[in-house]
Amino acid sequence: MAGLLLIISGPSGVGKTTITHEVERMLGGQFSVSMTTRKQTTGDKAGTDYHFVTMDEFTAARDGGELLEWAEVYEGLCYGTPRKPVEDALAAGKLIILEIDVDGAIQIKEKMPDAFAVFVLPPNEQTLLERLRSRKREDESAIQKRFAKAKREIIKAWECGAYDEFIVNRDLDKAVTEAVGLVRSEQARRAAPSR
Ligand code: 5GP
Repeated sequence: MAGLLLIISGPSGVGKTTITHEVERMLGGQFSVSMTTRKQTTGDKAGTDYHFVTMDEFTAARDGGELLEWAEVYEGLCYGTPRKPVEDALAAGKLIILEIDVDGAIQIKEKMPDAFAVFVLPPNEQTLLERLRSRKREDESAIQKRFAKAKREIIKAWECGAYDEFIVNRDLDKAVTEAVGLVRSEQARRAAPSR
């Protein structure tokens, strides 16, 4: 079967990491490990969740053409997708999963229109703010920055035309089932002989 490049995006706190890893597990996909200049938190595993690098290392990789896309997701914090693992996975016919923001998804869709992009929405703004606070990962000012970015990102996701599907995470199990179903249907659609 031909490989599939799957993009999963959604605001911080919407549950997209869980959804991404469940899709990876249930469909035998490969998670694309991004490079980032943000600091490693206690919950992060270096090399598995992210490659944590300095700004100089990031700039060298970007300028050397090693990144398929990149974005300054938060002020001074850059994130990017290493190109080679994605190209190798697609050449091997694998499902490769990118958990990236809207700017990254727009860049990928321009270069690789065959990518399949899914955006995960919260049921409403208040629920998103509560979820961000309940993770206890950031202080209130970082939470407010993430919340403001989330609201801008949702509008941009609707308007940019890069996303093939939107799912609402009211219930995590149902959102996982829905995401897995969408990817399976897309794989089946692509595998079907064209008439
Ligand atoms: P976090 O710091 O919470 O792990 O991630 C913050 C945001 O960066 C999330 O919206 C995530 O999707 C996005 N992100 C993670 N990796 C990449 C990447 O390689 N490229 C882009 N454009 N965004 C990324």
